[in-house]
Amino acid sequence: MNPLLSSFDTAPFSKIKNEHFKPAFLQAMQDARAEIDAITSNKEAPTFNNTIVALEFSGQQLDRISSVFFNLNSAETNEEIQKIAQEISPLLSEFSNDITLNEALFIRIKSIYEQKDSLNLSIEQTTLLDKKYKSFSRNGANLSEDKKSRLREIDAELSKLKLKFGENVLAETNKFEMHLTDEKDVTGLPDGAKEMAAQLAKSKEKDGWLITLDYPSYIPFMKYAENRELRKKLSLAFGSKAFKGDELDNQETVLKLANLRFERANLLGYKTHAHFVLEERMAETPEKVHSFLNELLEKAKPAAIKEFQELEDFAKGLDQIDTLQKWDGSYYSEKLKQKLFNLDDEQLKPYFKLENVISGVFTVAEKLFGLQFEEVFDVDKYHEEVKTYKVYDADSNFVSLFYADFHPRKGKRGGAWMTSFKSQWIKNGENSRPQISNVCNFTPSTETKPSLLTFNEVTTLFHEFGHGLHGMLANTTYPSLSGTSVYWDFVELPSQVLENWCYEKETLELFATHYETGEVIPMDLVEKIKASATFQEGMATLRQLSFGLLDMAWHGTDPTAITDVKTYETEAFSGTNLFPETPETCMSTAFAHIFQGGYSSGYYSYKWAEVLDADAFAYFKEKGIFNKEVANKFKDNVLSKGGTENPMVLYKRFRGTEPKVEALLERAGLLTSS
Ligand SMILES: [Zn+2]
Repeated sequence: MNPLLSSFDTAPFSKIKNEHFKPAFLQAMQDARAEIDAITSNKEAPTFNNTIVALEFSGQQLDRISSVFFNLNSAETNEEIQKIAQEISPLLSEFSNDITLNEALFIRIKSIYEQKDSLNLSIEQTTLLDKKYKSFSRNGANLSEDKKSRLREIDAELSKLKLKFGENVLAETNKFEMHLTDEKDVTGLPDGAKEMAAQLAKSKEKDGWLITLDYPSYIPFMKYAENRELRKKLSLAFGSKAFKGDELDNQETVLKLANLRFERANLLGYKTHAHFVLEERMAETPEKVHSFLNELLEKAKPAAIKEFQELEDFAKGLDQIDTLQKWDGSYYSEKLKQKLFNLDDEQLKPYFKLENVISGVFTVAEKLFGLQFEEVFDVDKYHEEVKTYKVYDADSNFVSLFYADFHPRKGKRGGAWMTSFKSQWIKNGENSRPQISNVCNFTPSTETKPSLLTFNEVTTLFHEFGHGLHGMLANTTYPSLSGTSVYWDFVELPSQVLENWCYEKETLELFATHYETGEVIPMDLVEKIKASATFQEGMATLRQLSFGLLDMAWHGTDPTAITDVKTYETEAFSGTNLFPETPETCMSTAFAHIFQGGYSSGYYSYKWAEVLDADAFAYFKEKGIFNKEVANKFKDNVLSKGGTENPMVLYKRFRGTEPKVEALLERAGLLTSS
């Protein structure tokens, strides 16, 4: 018997062999198709229950198998699993395309959608119906045949162009290398970065040092290398990726992508691509995004200009440079930061032993939401390093299973993330609880030292645990609206808000004790952490806003008249520039977030989420960071509600008002510096 095809509660990892996956996927897809067929061939008139609910709960075994498989492919993979992923992924996208292109299914959904006002649906049911209907209509289900076929053409062309965009950026990144043979040229680089550059040279059978455009090589060089000419060379190479007029140039591709996205949006009845995207976002419209970005810009700009001036004065005083250029920014900022704060990871790490930080974040969850974490040893897991916990509420009701997998391994991808092995739902009166997981890559312990985290790792742990709480505390009927299944620009609220607790004395006293002496972290260190966190926040804000504005310039207007990428970009950047303009560079031709990845019309959401979390935390600060009443409001209106309602409505119910930018400006130190 294939263990993946049995009805399992927790994933039966110890019984699963790689060869089980493919047949399980195939069988589960076949079963799911049969469930869809049963809906469309139902002789009864379409109802919310026999169509929308039936569709929502179809393919559950497939979902379980997919989460086991793709979670393993991220956290404990091998060549065999990667090979299966390559075989299975196209089949899965074909499977989901077949559903959104299923006309008989759409006709039933549409007839329910058209009577929705007379069906007495709850808010959650209405949201579910809207979501199902839009998953079809936004893919062209309402279009005439010729428009449908044009839409398919556009989609095919868009995916080709995105691929080409990414390939060109990658080829440009790999093509460049700066070979240095004089040790003077690497002066200033920390030992680790120097070693890496030497190793890279050696691996290519060269002497000396190799610097490339990959971040781990590029960033330390821009930050630390004393040779200004070489920083300039590297910076210009980085900034001119896919902008050299040769076969790897992306200017044409950028124009085509913008125009095709615009045409696609028009076909579907939207004014621009941004209107199309933002329909399913908390920000709702391009106008709101624009006024949001511009409000922040207006308020952050004076501080940014002042910081820039300080930085330029500092650089002039130190090295008598004429004008501060793009290739000087990181370098002098790092020097100024060292001078002002003199704070490094090694000073802090002894206070952040991993076990203490975990118990700290559990205590925070207990003080806020009454949660209890009990480590259990009888749950099957995919690696011995994984820890498993049963989570209970204050009345000892079971809330969630929680997997924690903290250290790097061969077979685990980089970064940190929250995921789930099973989402939460209510069916036949039974509340089926979720299975949530946090996966990270924290510094492991050694023979002589326990795992000691950098402060950045501490905030990462709180961040992912915040996403985890969103999953664990979910309390909705339908799985596709549960937990973190919310609008993109709302999903970072629970994670980012939790990071705020790391900077508070009251929290740090709970867990930040020296692993050898037991001494609580000195408060002057805490003050330094806080102060350095807002160092050059005005400049950083302006930079983020410039990317958001460029994204909106490409996607929130009619692009048909744009002829020159660089000219258009320069115009979009005109309100946010601090450094002198460099004609040989272009951001758009390598802006993979918006032209290759999924961030088109979404770049603003980084700042949007910061505004939400700062505004939410300001409420806690006002009433006390462990105030039960505020915590309960957050749990009842945000954490437990998933995507069942419009996020602005949920937020206002928690906070009493819409989020305002002031809390972020205050936290970032931008209110007083103008
Ligand atoms: Zn996150």
